[in-house]
Amino acid sequence: MIERYPTKKIFVGDVAVGGDAPISVQSMTFSDTRDVEATVAQIKRLHFASCDIVRVAVPDMESARALEEIKKQISIPLIADIHFNYKLALEASKWVDCIRFNPGNIGDKSRIKDIVKACSERSLPIRIGVNAGSLEKEFDNKYGATAKGMVASAEYNIKFLEDLGFEDIKISLKASDVERTVEAYRMLRPKNNYPFHIGVTEAGTIFHATIKSSIGLGALLLDGIGDTMRVSITGELEDEIKVGKAIIKDSGRSKEGLNIISCPTCGRIEADLVSAVAEVERRTAHIKAPLDVSVMGCAVNAIGEAKHSDVAIAYGKGAGLIMVSGEVVAKLPEDKLVDRFVQEVEKFAGSMDKSI
Ligand code: SF4
Repeated sequence: MIERYPTKKIFVGDVAVGGDAPISVQSMTFSDTRDVEATVAQIKRLHFASCDIVRVAVPDMESARALEEIKKQISIPLIADIHFNYKLALEASKWVDCIRFNPGNIGDKSRIKDIVKACSERSLPIRIGVNAGSLEKEFDNKYGATAKGMVASAEYNIKFLEDLGFEDIKISLKASDVERTVEAYRMLRPKNNYPFHIGVTEAGTIFHATIKSSIGLGALLLDGIGDTMRVSITGELEDEIKVGKAIIKDSGRSKEGLNIISCPTCGRIEADLVSAVAEVERRTAHIKAPLDVSVMGCAVNAIGEAKHSDVAIAYGKGAGLIMVSGEVVAKLPEDKLVDRFVQEVEKFAGSMDKSI
């Protein structure tokens, strides 16, 4: 059993981060934040896709002011992402649930004092978002863009906030490669108990981002590290949430939703298993119950998998078996199997809901 690192619980709006709170998944809009309608539309897409917390870029004062109207139209916690200009954080803090700033490009530390004061007055947490690509000069000169440099920057800024009496903090240490990212989080983890926002930044297209994030975030989650996360993908908003939730589930940090076991197929296959599994995945995506289900191509491994599955299909030639809790409940032609399987999964999930 992997123990999650015991961290302090903070709140971003009504979403708890750290402590015993579920690991939340965040994403970020790519609309022009000044365009309220487009930004709200993207936030609603993310919310519908089960995103827990959303972040928006605040590159100028008009964007910071637009947050007032954006916030009125959404019901998901909102984080303002601030670079370079601390005044944007001061304006944004009037409307959002958390401020993220990058200490490497906010400039004079006295400006951070003003951000801390504004956040304290409104009980807003701050994410110290360290990026390997934009470390403060002193750390960059001393360590370069290394894990050590990222950790040194984070430690300096944590202490700076703590000295101001501010401890409503979460921390991220992002690099664009997996190794530095994992090394930095592992290095910093034993040194404080603030919740960590984990992520591999600028991870690329869905293919590469999924691999990098699965390795990096998976490694950290299996170390018990990570309280909230973002999978950074050059692509569709919804994909970030889908991949993020899957990483949490497949690393065993969440039981929510179906664990679908399917075989890779081989020369023994006599059915269209690829289409069947895709259809099963699509038609059961709404189910939150923690079920193990299997969709197998032939009798070789299907019966064994079915014994450990809540609901299973074993395909054969032109027909197959539906099994529930290891018992055969139906033998049906191939074209009827997925319909019955989905029915049985929904029934099983419903019976679990009633037993809770
Ligand atoms: S379950 Fe059957 S079809 Fe699927 S990989 Fe195994 S032997 Fe091949």
